[in-house]
Amino acid sequence: MELPRLVVVGSGVAMEVADVCCNLKLKGGALIVTGPKTCELAGGEISQRMEEGGFETDLMITKISKIEEVERAERMAAEMEAGFLIGVGGGRSIDVAKLASDRAGVHFVSVPTAASHDGICSAQASLTIDGETTSVSAQAPLGIIADTAIISKAPKRLLAAGCGDIISNITAIKDWKLAFRLRGEEYSEYASALSEMTARMIVESAPSLKPGLEESARVVVKALLSSGVAMSIAGSSRPASGSEHKFAHAVNQIEPGRALHGELCGLGTIVMMYLHGGDWEMIREALREVGAPTSASEIGLHEETVIEALTSAHKIRPERYTILGSGLTREAAAAAARKTKIL
Ligand SMILES: [Zn+2]
Repeated sequence: MELPRLVVVGSGVAMEVADVCCNLKLKGGALIVTGPKTCELAGGEISQRMEEGGFETDLMITKISKIEEVERAERMAAEMEAGFLIGVGGGRSIDVAKLASDRAGVHFVSVPTAASHDGICSAQASLTIDGETTSVSAQAPLGIIADTAIISKAPKRLLAAGCGDIISNITAIKDWKLAFRLRGEEYSEYASALSEMTARMIVESAPSLKPGLEESARVVVKALLSSGVAMSIAGSSRPASGSEHKFAHAVNQIEPGRALHGELCGLGTIVMMYLHGGDWEMIREALREVGAPTSASEIGLHEETVIEALTSAHKIRPERYTILGSGLTREAAAAAARKTKIL
């Protein structure tokens, strides 16, 4: 199991970044990877705090999570002989820093500025390679600094998407249990129970989760971390990624960049819960309460995209067995989407 060594969650904790790096016994210079907006929000301040703490730093501003950006980060890290990397951002910067640090053979610290997906603590990096979004295995962060004062100021759509990514654990676990029973796939009771409990806790607290509140940011961040731990125990993304994630990836292939990862996973969870014969209305209600989309039209997705994605989703990561089995017919896909009011 690869787990983070130190996780700090709280208001203003990003200001203690240098102390955290000292506690982690990190040595040498730090390459800080951040985005143009997140640099203003936190990256610049973090760089300054690190310098004050006696660390030599260099700043890399990245706009896209492309493999070329990972290579650029690697070159910059080599030039300054960086002892470790710090990713400061919502997703892209963390993905770039995560993979670049792994390739450079140094540690990495994650400083999320939003709670929009579980990539802030996982060992997987989502990157565009040859025009396609791919999940690449990298390394888990050695430390995570989740400053709720910063995260609570992120656009409200991001927090709702984070909830969608967590709620999707419910169908991911159903798929995993199915693969265990039907295919004898390796299964972990601990990882499964932790992942499902995390999602149920978000469903239960959905009515009280409000963007802009530090307490809400704290609840969602802790759930994302807990999902990350479940994945670490399982040694794969299985506890947090099943048929609903396949659907999200299929939509992204057909209409790239239309919606956030967690928003698509949320939509997918409603339909997959229906296919599993579960309480899809409970999922739909929880997503509605947190302000996440529950229909394709809310995020401007075309009807044809949804049907096409539902019929082709099983082809994504075919070795990962789910309720989608060998695929839905067009008629069944359309019927499921209409029944669950996605369309
Ligand atoms: Zn996800």
